[in-house]
Amino acid sequence: MKYDAYIDFSREALLEKIAGAMSEKRFRHVLGVEETSLELAARYATDPVKTSLAALLHDYAKEQTDSVFLDLIDRYQLDPDLKHWGNNVWHGVVGRYLITEHFGLTDEEILTAIARHTVGAGEMTLLDKVLYVADYIEPGRDFPGVDTARAIAKEDLDKAVAYETARTVEHLAHKGIPIYPQTIETYNGYVGYL
Ligand code: GDP
Ligand code: FE
Ligand code: FE
Repeated sequence: MKYDAYIDFSREALLEKIAGAMSEKRFRHVLGVEETSLELAARYATDPVKTSLAALLHDYAKEQTDSVFLDLIDRYQLDPDLKHWGNNVWHGVVGRYLITEHFGLTDEEILTAIARHTVGAGEMTLLDKVLYVADYIEPGRDFPGVDTARAIAKEDLDKAVAYETARTVEHLAHKGIPIYPQTIETYNGYVGYL
């Protein structure tokens, strides 16, 4: 895969930098998300190079400290309410800015898919949906319902977004964890596909 339309990194250099920013386990997850997202790209017709880059970079910021995200929220003058959330929301929504700084990536479609990979959006692009779903069903994932999600993803991408979001909202509510408003927008935008 050649990425020179988007970044000045060979695949080898890109993988090395990503691997250096996370645990081996998370790096294996990233490669699993790439594999699954490229399968979905073939089925739902997203650009394979953009899909690969979005997948490889989606969790790049996940192991950064809170102060890195708080600093990015200040420097990019993002919604101050973001400071009340945490790593789970920040690593995509705020992480996209770190990715631009560290890789020189400015493609809005790829960065938006990364920003939305955890919380989704009320209306998502094909690439957003491919990454959102691939992150949930990659081969390394093992939780009740993952096989149902995998089967739905082969048939209907919007329904797969709906299923994943409903399960995530259920899970967060069951555990008493705050739900980011954009996650609710995703739920409302896609629940009709279930
Ligand atoms: P990962 O980075 O590959 O582990 O997967 P994700 O980026 O999709 O999700 C990271 C974590 O964020 C998971 O534990 C989700 O349950 C959690 N999460 C997803 N949506 C929300 C939300 O709206 N609010 C909060 N607080 N956490 C969320
Ligand atoms: Fe993530
Ligand atoms: Fe992930």
